[in-house]
Amino acid sequence: MNPSQPETISSLPLRVLNLVDCGVIVLDREGCIVVWNGWLVPRSGRGAARVQGHALIDVFPDLRGSRVEAAVLAALLEGTTTEHVPPSGKRSPFPLREPGSFDGALIDQAIAVTPFDEEGQRYCMIEIRDVSGAAVRERRLLEHAESLRARSYIDGLTGIANRRHFDVALDRELRRALRGDGTLALLLVDIDSFKAYNDHFGHQQGDSCLTLVAQELAGMLKRPADLAARYGGEEFAAVLPDTTLAQARVLADRVRVHIAGLGLEQAPAAHHPKVTLSIGVAAFDRERLKDPEALIEAADKALYAAKRGGRNRVVADGDVVDAAA
Ligand code: GH3
Ligand code: MG
Ligand code: MG
Repeated sequence: MNPSQPETISSLPLRVLNLVDCGVIVLDREGCIVVWNGWLVPRSGRGAARVQGHALIDVFPDLRGSRVEAAVLAALLEGTTTEHVPPSGKRSPFPLREPGSFDGALIDQAIAVTPFDEEGQRYCMIEIRDVSGAAVRERRLLEHAESLRARSYIDGLTGIANRRHFDVALDRELRRALRGDGTLALLLVDIDSFKAYNDHFGHQQGDSCLTLVAQELAGMLKRPADLAARYGGEEFAAVLPDTTLAQARVLADRVRVHIAGLGLEQAPAAHHPKVTLSIGVAAFDRERLKDPEALIEAADKALYAAKRGGRNRVVADGDVVDAAA
C-alpha cells in the first residue's frame, strides 16, 4: 500500500465493481439504490447518477409484489440470503436488454439477493446474471424455490403475497401517502359461507377455490403499485395506492361481480348458490385513518356490514347499511 496515493486505493473496489460480468445493485435499509454498477448502464439505458438515491421500486414499479421484491424485503428486514430468486413466470424481472438493442428481447436473468451490515446499517446486494439461452437456466432457478417459499413473502397455497408482505406494503404506502398528499385505499375481501363450501366439497377443493379466487383477484389489479395479498384463512386484502374511496368502491364491485360471474357452484347450505365475496373498503384519511390499524379496522367494519347486509356486496367506510331481512 502506498499511503501517498489514497485515491487509487479507494477507487479500486469501484473499478473492479464496474468490470464484473454481472449487474450489481446495492440498496440501503429504505430500499434506495446506493450502488449501480457499470454492467447495468448499457443494458438498462440508465446511468448511476439517474437512479442513485431513488427507491428501487420507484425505478422499477413492475417489481412490486414480485419474487424479487419479496427477496429484497426478506434481506433488508430479516437478513435472509436468497441465492436464486425463483422466477414468477417472468424470466426478466428487470427490464434489461443486450447492449445497443433497446427494442430487442429482454435478457433472461438469474438473481441473488444478499444482505450485509456496514457501520451498523443494513444493506442488500442484488446480483443479476445474464442466463439467456443457458440450458441449465430452468434447473438453477427452480433449485431453491421450495426453500425460499417457506421463508418468503409469498403465500404458500395461493401464490400471491402473504400477510407479512401486506403489512410491509401497507405501512410503506401509508407513509408515502402521509408524506405527500396522496390517496390510498384498502380492500378487505372475504369469501362468503366458506365453511359451508369446505364442509360440502372437502378441504382440498376448498384450497383450490381459495387459490382460484386469489389469482383472479390479483389478476384484476392492473396498476404496478397495487398489491393483492392473502390476509388470512379465506380473507384477502388489496392495497391500492393513488386510489380514492370512490374509485376503490368501483374496483371492489368489479371484483365482486367478476367472482360471482365465474359461476362456481356453492354448497346448498351457503347464503348464495354460487361462490361470492363480501368486500369492505376504506381509504387513507389524514385525520382519522392514517395508521395501518385504523385503516384495517375501518375496512373490517365495512366488511362486517357487507356480511350483515346479506353478503355478495361491497360496503365502503361511512356507508349506511340496512341489515338484510
Ligand atoms: P362468512 O360468509 O360469514 O364469511 O362465513 P364463512 O363460513 O366464510 O366464515 P367462517 O369464518 O365461519 O369460516 C371460514 C372458513 O374458511 C373456515 C375454514 O375452514 C375455512 N378456511 C380457512 N382457511 C382455509 C384454507 O386454507 N383452506 C381451506 N380449504 N379452508 C380454509
Ligand atoms: Mg368467509
Ligand atoms: Mg373470514
